[in-house]
Amino acid sequence: MPVTVKTFATAAEAATALSADRAARYLGGGTLVMRALNEGDISISTVVRATDRALNRIDVSSARVVIGAGVTFARILAERELAFLHAPARAIGGPAVRNMGTVGGNLFAQNPFGDFTVALLALDAIVSVQGGLGARDIPIEEFLQSRDRQSGALVLAISCQRPSSADAFRYRKVARIRPKGGSVITLAANLAASSGRITGARIALGSMGPAPMRARAAERALEGRALDAASIAAAAAVAAEGASPSDTAIASAWYRREVIGVHLRRLLSGQE
Ligand SMILES: Cc1cc2nc3c(=O)[nH]c(=O)nc-3n(C[C@H](O)[C@H](O)[C@H](O)COP(=O)(O)OP(=O)(O)OC[C@H]3O[C@@H](n4cnc5c(N)ncnc54)[C@H](O)[C@@H]3O)c2cc1C
Repeated sequence: MPVTVKTFATAAEAATALSADRAARYLGGGTLVMRALNEGDISISTVVRATDRALNRIDVSSARVVIGAGVTFARILAERELAFLHAPARAIGGPAVRNMGTVGGNLFAQNPFGDFTVALLALDAIVSVQGGLGARDIPIEEFLQSRDRQSGALVLAISCQRPSSADAFRYRKVARIRPKGGSVITLAANLAASSGRITGARIALGSMGPAPMRARAAERALEGRALDAASIAAAAAVAAEGASPSDTAIASAWYRREVIGVHLRRLLSGQE
């Protein structure tokens, strides 16, 4: 089936084209879209691209960093000011995938992918989208919950506050094949503290549901407490609460539920 490629100079024009055609897909780095096309996915009849440089912008001039949807993981790794995102960027595929794959595309990647998005969820990122009805900012959790309905919208950028300290933000991807395997479980935690007590704990999990999700029971177990053996054990004990992992070729749902607490304990105690 022939596929039409439409290239636009501005993100706004691309967004209009995308929202007008249900069979249109935006092409980010193409690591997933091109694979789908090569495998004969007939649901895609139009590929929309934008050469708008705003989509490739990184702004680290303030405490809130802004990353264009078209920024690749290789560029994140080259940006010293984004050191807190280097572990999640390094967790994606191999060098070729990191050179092409984008932050925007990762928001839509289905299990076992979406490893970078797990980090963004723990950082309470905001997703800026442009749809047929104009531009708006959506909290990432809300975006992920309605992700299947977002396919007609163009993601312009994501923004997030830097973690309060290097130690506050932690990330761990569990894979059977290192460094390139698909995720058994991916975990990220953002643990701001005030007077030695955790405030506003965020724990995000990948491969524990249809999309990256917050581990709210574990967050509650840490809230207002010091990060010590007792609070870590309490969080680990409820890590799987609310999760609905699937059986996949990489791991069974049962296994994921069994080991999530172990990996959360290791993440929170700073173990490798
Ligand atoms: C060999 C291999 C290994 C991989 N390993 C990993 C891994 O370890 N971890 C991981 O998370 N992922 C992995 N991936 C998946 C993928 O490379 C990444 O998730 C990547 O971030 C996808 O980004 P992309 O720009 O290539 O997406 P694309 O293929 O361009 O797009 C993917 C989807 O997102 C949509 N999209 C892209 N950009 C936008 C936008 N700005 N606005 C609206 N919609 C948009 C597209 O329309 C499409 O539906 C791997 C892929 C391959 C082929």
